[in-house]
Amino acid sequence: MSHPVIDLRSDTVTRPTEAMRAAMLAAPLGDDVFGDDPSVNALQAQIAEMLGFEAALFVPTGTQSNFCAILAHCQRGDEYIVGQMAHCYRWEGGGAAVFGSVQPQPLDHQPDGTLALQDIEAAIKPDDAHFARTRLLALENTLGGKLLPFDYIEQATQLAQRRGLGRHLDGARLFNAAVAQAQRRGTDARAEARRIAGCFDTVSVCFSKGLGAPVGSALCGSRELISRAHRIRKMAGGGMRQAGMLAAAASHALQHHVDRLAEDHALARRLAEGLSGIEGLKVEAPQTNLLFVDLVGEAKARSADLLAHLKREGVLATGLYRLRFATHLDVDAAGIAHAVAAIRSFFHA
Ligand SMILES: *Cc1c(COP(=O)(O)O)cnc(C)c1O
Repeated sequence: MSHPVIDLRSDTVTRPTEAMRAAMLAAPLGDDVFGDDPSVNALQAQIAEMLGFEAALFVPTGTQSNFCAILAHCQRGDEYIVGQMAHCYRWEGGGAAVFGSVQPQPLDHQPDGTLALQDIEAAIKPDDAHFARTRLLALENTLGGKLLPFDYIEQATQLAQRRGLGRHLDGARLFNAAVAQAQRRGTDARAEARRIAGCFDTVSVCFSKGLGAPVGSALCGSRELISRAHRIRKMAGGGMRQAGMLAAAASHALQHHVDRLAEDHALARRLAEGLSGIEGLKVEAPQTNLLFVDLVGEAKARSADLLAHLKREGVLATGLYRLRFATHLDVDAAGIAHAVAAIRSFFHA
């Protein structure tokens, strides 16, 4: 029996829904470099309002959003404190250092994904000509699918503020965090997104991940920071013209695809449950839509074999550091059942 390919490599692989395509086609357009695109302007107002900021900037990618944020906060010769596994340190080609002459100060993560407060404190350099000027703390939520504890976010950002640092959140998956946090606290996901965002000076959100838009991110912040980011976006070649078609997809996603992230989280849990009890497989309980799995014992060296086996079975995943399975808008329970069966067949389990 042949199955459609179950693509669990990333939550970026989704195709726009029919309703999203209709919203894109209907979008009023203008030239956004002149500030004339009504759909871009509406999206920027919508996301700024949602997260409680004065302003927002639509950018083509999350990478460019983080880049604009870091350069809006930091000058040449400044540094930002960031986690070893954070996207804006490890996964962006060192852009802030390469193009911005801003030095990262990476710190090891604690098992829950946080950066220890004493490590942050110790990494802040004295005002002395030997050192780069420490200017910014950059956190990420979710990080590797983990929800940063809200108390921790408050403490870390208060520490940063006390020490005169800017505070940036890479919230590529902020709404996944918000939905998971809302479920734990019995509150509303939008209120949680706003509460988390309220601890930061700038927040970057991706529309192209779990929210299911084809392209785009937004950077939110004060008018002043966003006007600096706007200049940097232009330098980075990110000034787009009739970008309203893309912005309309993002607006549609904000309206219709936030609460449904809970379904992706439930499917990740279902996948984890389906894989429990397989010898050679260590499954980390997923908090949101990313499931990480390690091969252990005799299976340890077989991750490439497993990925190849899964590909033959029509299931795609990634394995750069650990095996990762991402659930999203374009997978359903039947797809997850197929993935479970394909993985179990590799282990004859
Ligand atoms: C995907 C991602 C980004 C970057 O997004 P691109 O649009 O791929 O550049 C930034 N931060 C995090 C945490 C991400 O997951």
